[in-house]
Amino acid sequence: MSGFSDLRLSLAELEARQLYRHRRVVESPQGREVRLSSGRCLNFCSNDYLGLAADPRIAAAARAAIDRWGVGAGASHLITGHTAAHQALEEALADFTQRPAVLVFGSGYAANLGTINALLSAGDQVFEDRLNHASLIDGGRISRADYHWYRHLDTEHLKRKLSANAGTACRRLIVTDGTFSMDGDRCKLDELIACAHEADAWLMVDDAHGIGVHGPRGCGEVDPGQHGCNDVQVLMGTLGKAFGVAGAFVAGSTDLIETLVHRARNYIYTTAMPAALAAAVLASIEIVINEDWRRAHLHNLIARFRQGAAELGLELMPSATPIQPVLLGAPARALAWSEALEQQGVLALAIRPPTVPRDTSRLRITLTAAHTEQDVDQLLAALDNAAQTVVAA
Ligand SMILES: *Cc1c(COP(=O)(O)O)cnc(C)c1O
Repeated sequence: MSGFSDLRLSLAELEARQLYRHRRVVESPQGREVRLSSGRCLNFCSNDYLGLAADPRIAAAARAAIDRWGVGAGASHLITGHTAAHQALEEALADFTQRPAVLVFGSGYAANLGTINALLSAGDQVFEDRLNHASLIDGGRISRADYHWYRHLDTEHLKRKLSANAGTACRRLIVTDGTFSMDGDRCKLDELIACAHEADAWLMVDDAHGIGVHGPRGCGEVDPGQHGCNDVQVLMGTLGKAFGVAGAFVAGSTDLIETLVHRARNYIYTTAMPAALAAAVLASIEIVINEDWRRAHLHNLIARFRQGAAELGLELMPSATPIQPVLLGAPARALAWSEALEQQGVLALAIRPPTVPRDTSRLRITLTAAHTEQDVDQLLAALDNAAQTVVAA
């Protein structure tokens, strides 16, 4: 008997605890609606916050770039995979974030692991918000730095951890989500910056869900007009969410970026993203910056949803972002609500442990600029209906 004979058993256990995951097969592009084998559904679970994932202008840019560059990058960036399209994208993102330099990674997961690992090693210290994204937690753990977590958004707790571990000459990195991916609330940026300065630490902000969504020109949680490289030394953003394409970037000083080029294993030992995707993001940046109406419309939908949900007596979280979880508690309850919505043609998926803490299973509803006010009203009606039918069941 091999040590793997318990795979079936642990899967069965997940199933029994209502924690089994089934992947849906989507048969249409992303948008306000998606087509599943069971029919069309209003889509309230994508991270396509500005509604750009299927934008014809971005798709056209990708097609034209495939004609010019082909499909595969063929090699890693340090060999022959780094094309003029990648270079142009890095320069455009440096402009966008008003930082001296930028490095583009194949995914946000790779960017976070690669960056934290490149910066820290045994003897260093990393301080992370307890609800940070898995990739930040994994990066901190894999780096072999001493790992410290602090309570969610609790700057006083962070300060105590920093001073309790002060004194040794080492690198100290504070790491936070900009917008928290499962709760939708935002980091206390000014407090974190002050805290990092005082503790002689660097601050890394993962703005996967904020970039494109907040701020002037969609700059995100970190407004470069207010906070440059001396405040947020490591700024990370993803290109697969509001930008609607794929990949991620890290922005900062030239020394930071050159260090990553030499030390980030997830950058060095991987094939470059296709040049056509870099070109597609270039087209997307223009739209993100210029089409302010997408952000205005999105924020209007967020307010409409919150007001309607409050009137229905639903338990929301303190979120002013497109991520609007409805707290339900037990995994089975979240699943039942999700199924009740799907029967009404509304897709909002249940998020369960280990993605979120025990007893906080929820529907993770996300709004995008592709939705209309009527879509939000239909979502609210479906939630009202679920509240009545599921409780009665
Ligand atoms: C989605 C996400 C990532 C990972 O980005 P990908 O490009 O999807 O790999 C990293 N951090 C946070 C906070 C995220 O939400």
